[in-house]
Amino acid sequence: MPRLLIQNALVIDPARKLEKKLNLFIEDGRIKSLGPGFPGTARGSFELFDASGLWLMPGLIDMHVHTREPGMERAENLASAARAAAAGGITSILAMPNTEPPADSPALLRRLSEKAAALPVNIYFSAAVTRGRAGRELAGLKALKAAGALAFTDDGACVENSKLLTKALRLAKKLKTPVLEHAEASHLTGPGVMHECARARRLGVPGIPREAETYMVLRDLLLAGATGGPLHLQHLSCLESVELAAAARRRGIRVTAETCPHYFTLTCEDVRNAAFKMKPPLRERDDRAALIKGLADGTIDVIASDHAPHPAAEKTKGMIKAPFGVTGLETMLGLALTELVHKGVISRLRLAELMSANPARILGLKKKGGLAPGMDADLTLIEPFVEYRVGPRFYSRSANSPFIGRRLKGRAAATMVAGRFVFRRSQILR
Ligand SMILES: [Zn+2]
Repeated sequence: MPRLLIQNALVIDPARKLEKKLNLFIEDGRIKSLGPGFPGTARGSFELFDASGLWLMPGLIDMHVHTREPGMERAENLASAARAAAAGGITSILAMPNTEPPADSPALLRRLSEKAAALPVNIYFSAAVTRGRAGRELAGLKALKAAGALAFTDDGACVENSKLLTKALRLAKKLKTPVLEHAEASHLTGPGVMHECARARRLGVPGIPREAETYMVLRDLLLAGATGGPLHLQHLSCLESVELAAAARRRGIRVTAETCPHYFTLTCEDVRNAAFKMKPPLRERDDRAALIKGLADGTIDVIASDHAPHPAAEKTKGMIKAPFGVTGLETMLGLALTELVHKGVISRLRLAELMSANPARILGLKKKGGLAPGMDADLTLIEPFVEYRVGPRFYSRSANSPFIGRRLKGRAAATMVAGRFVFRRSQILR
């Protein structure tokens, strides 16, 4: 295994609240030492990487990614998702199970994990909560956990049957594995395609009321309280959801929460076409402000992309017919830097918590999310002040991003997984 000394980086370690210009020595895929000057452990031959001017964080972990394999490889596959992640500074992703067939069997999980092992970033898998994601009976959660599932979710849909979700949370507690909830009451969403607002009326399209989310967030929190099960709320979009999560946590309910870059960057007023169509939908200014506040004050634990690739032929069918979802692996870091860090809303340390330390903790990845000696050498090196425009070309197989052409400040300069560079600016390695 290569040995490497990364010199002169601004090292940001959220686990130890450390922010300092240091040298990092890497051996056998792990962090060997971290300190000023030349490490005593660095004897023999090793490579040097000069990281002057760069920020160095524990590798970003995106716990909400639709890799589309198996069954929807026209939009994405494991290999293209891995390349897009590496280019976005992301070293680990959690794949969602809404594939064709859905990931609800240990055999499929094992097959996918074997395939993923050869790819440049770590791909972990979540498994369906219910058989076929059909919401009628529980999947074999214990066997799925044994097959490597790091979480259970029917993402793309909610577990709407409260009795089933109660059972799932009880079992998830025993298995020490989180249930990731796509909180949405489908009967309230109905035929809606964007947030119910003046903009939707002007565009003449049916709206999705905020209650479609907030009603289920409240129900999920009640069931988490009743069972003590580990609940993680995915892609929050509403002010009330943030308030409910904060209130639940004050009462000692075990809940973590996530939001995505599109919700802290855009509002429903920005919706121009189906490139801005996703679930939950973009909401209003007050919602965006509440999400940003939640990211800053600790109510929201995680920034995830909800990377949801779709072929152009599908996404150009118009607001009514186009599928829900936007890509995000390659823009997540740039948007977080531009909208949150550079605007002074959150610190660099908080960014590393939201995008690495917290997802590592929630998913039980004990060797990730920090930079102490012994941790995996999964690293994200950031060029913080470079300005550029998004796209139009991506490593992802799909380009359904609402951010194409947007000016951003800051991006990944290099991405390292297990001590090897898998990306250096404009170059996928390995
Ligand atoms: Zn979802």
